[in-house]
Amino acid sequence: MSRSPPPICPTCQIPISILHIFTDCPMYSSSLSYYNLLPDIELVLQETSQHIPNIFRFLQANNLHNKI
Ligand SMILES: [Zn+2]
Repeated sequence: MSRSPPPICPTCQIPISILHIFTDCPMYSSSLSYYNLLPDIELVLQETSQHIPNIFRFLQANNLHNKI
């Protein structure tokens, strides 16, 4: 898994990371709000345990669960 380089965000042309997806990327913002992961993403990440089900659903819905 760590051998391949990180995937590049097709929208922003920068490496995809959790932080990029959750804070920067316009491509995922609507999907994040759909899963109640916005607007306070810092709080979400601080209290990850209670948000894990939604985070996981979001990652699966966007085919990100095997990229990050
Ligand atoms: Zn992006």
